[in-house]
Amino acid sequence: MIIAIDGPSGAGKSTVAKAVATKLGFNCLDTGAMYRSVAWYALEHGISLDDASSLGDIAANRPISFGHCEGDPVPRRVFIDGEEVTDVIRTADVDRSVSTVSAHPCVREALLEQQRRIASEGNYVIEGRDIGTVVFPNAELKVFLTASNEERARRRVLQNEQRGVGSVDFEEVLADILRRDELDSSRQNAPLVAAEDALLLDSTGRDIADVIEEICERGAR
Ligand code: C5P
Repeated sequence: MIIAIDGPSGAGKSTVAKAVATKLGFNCLDTGAMYRSVAWYALEHGISLDDASSLGDIAANRPISFGHCEGDPVPRRVFIDGEEVTDVIRTADVDRSVSTVSAHPCVREALLEQQRRIASEGNYVIEGRDIGTVVFPNAELKVFLTASNEERARRRVLQNEQRGVGSVDFEEVLADILRRDELDSSRQNAPLVAAEDALLLDSTGRDIADVIEEICERGAR
């Protein structure tokens, strides 16, 4: 069974996806971390963000994998080509670059294959932008999670503070998520839109535990 959770940055997808997976005993896949890993690899190796062929090559040939911290049911550790990138993919540099990288069709195609391969075994909660529309259009449950711009920026600042990585300046974070929304929604290939059959959930002002409960109830039906 696949539960797809799509939506813009900071809507609470990560928190919700990880909690739903834990409650239902599902695996969990953060596809944003995969695009971030490709962006990080490109920055680290001096590859231009316009060099579609080299970026596609990274996405196709540098395997991305996930790992657990001891005692944690959710895989929060991220690796590309065997190198751990859990924290470095959350920097402001990667925030600024990732939507340019994810707009290249060859990057999307290669990561789509990796995503389908990873999720081919077992039950998965998968979070991203195009999971219910492109990667798993037959997902048993599709959720499109949103929140107001200000709330999303506030949550992202809090998350960056907790992780100790990325910008904690509200205005900077707000500008970044609005810029990424624009890029992610306007790209030709797999733009950020809700699937027609998605459950639309606005988490603004809602207790996140409530949102998690609602999704679990539907997932268990
Ligand atoms: O979810 P997160 O903010 O970590 O995603 C980072 C970026 O990765 C997004 O802004 C988007 O450009 C890209 N992305 C995507 N498709 C997905 C997941 C993420 O294009 N399924």
